[in-house]
Amino acid sequence: MRVLVVGGAGYIGSHTVYELIKDHQEVIILDNLSSGYMELVHPEAKFYKGDIRNKEDIASVFKQEKIDVVMHFAAKIVVPESVKEPLEYYHNNVEGVRTLLEVMNEYNVKKLVFSSTAAVYGEASGVCKETDITMPINPYGETKLATEKMIQWVANAHGFNYVIFRYFNVAGADQSLKIGLMKDQLTHLIPVAIQGIIGLRDHLTIYGNDYPTKDGTCIRDYIHVSDLAYAHVLGARYLNGGGKSEIMNLGSNSGYTVLEVAQAVNEIAPLKYIIGPRRDGDPAELIASNDKARNILKWIPKYTLKDIVLSDYNYRKKISNR
Ligand code: UDP
Repeated sequence: MRVLVVGGAGYIGSHTVYELIKDHQEVIILDNLSSGYMELVHPEAKFYKGDIRNKEDIASVFKQEKIDVVMHFAAKIVVPESVKEPLEYYHNNVEGVRTLLEVMNEYNVKKLVFSSTAAVYGEASGVCKETDITMPINPYGETKLATEKMIQWVANAHGFNYVIFRYFNVAGADQSLKIGLMKDQLTHLIPVAIQGIIGLRDHLTIYGNDYPTKDGTCIRDYIHVSDLAYAHVLGARYLNGGGKSEIMNLGSNSGYTVLEVAQAVNEIAPLKYIIGPRRDGDPAELIASNDKARNILKWIPKYTLKDIVLSDYNYRKKISNR
């Protein structure tokens, strides 16, 4: 299988490329390097620098390469930034995919694995199923939902098949430690907590301990990035084998409180934390029902919370030394 990975130099894209190459697939990457890094690009992947908002950039790849399946990771994903810059988010996340779909249609490549997010469920609390109501509460989630719908209409009109994955809380790093989450401005719980034990931050602030959960802190569903990436390999194989279009959650069917995550990090090295006020827009509990991905793709996540925090710790330690 020849897979075009759009956004293959980013965090999740690069992990997916590593899993595809382990699976002996041929990989072509298109990335504008706006938030990706050349050092995350697998040496065996063919790399094109280009922007999905530029039709010529996309078309030049399709002109030169035979492609069976396209994967899309080239999105802007920072919620507060999306609130400040909604037009930028619509331009990149929706218009970018529109242009990609147009070129795919012109070149008769009609299989797409698309990265979406639990943010499409909005304020929903509890265990989310794919059939639950979607009501995003920020422009980021809105752009992903709008794009999901666009893909569905295009599939209907032009005979595309797609797998749309809705991600829950992704963290960790590939076992090789060659790739991981590089960003300097980290906001997600696990890398922030890890920074607290490697001397890059004084403490972790826990955003609220008065939620209706067992210890008062929010519950989230954490998934190792390599498990998530491998689901994309299965999704591509599924489409290439004639599988029909589906939307699937990628999570673990279970959740941990913020305090439990802090405890898992504290087991590696002492972590200082303080309790702060609630953060706007945080639902008390968000867990994925992953039954669909398990049943259809036979996807079984294999990494535990302990594996996730340890791999992020090892990666962050490695990159902090330079
Ligand atoms: N969180 C926290 N302190 C931090 C970062 C996150 O208490 O420095 C909490 C956050 O309020 C949420 C959970 O950790 O309840 C997961 O947040 P994250 O930003 O990692 O992912 P989200 O669920 O918002 O996508």
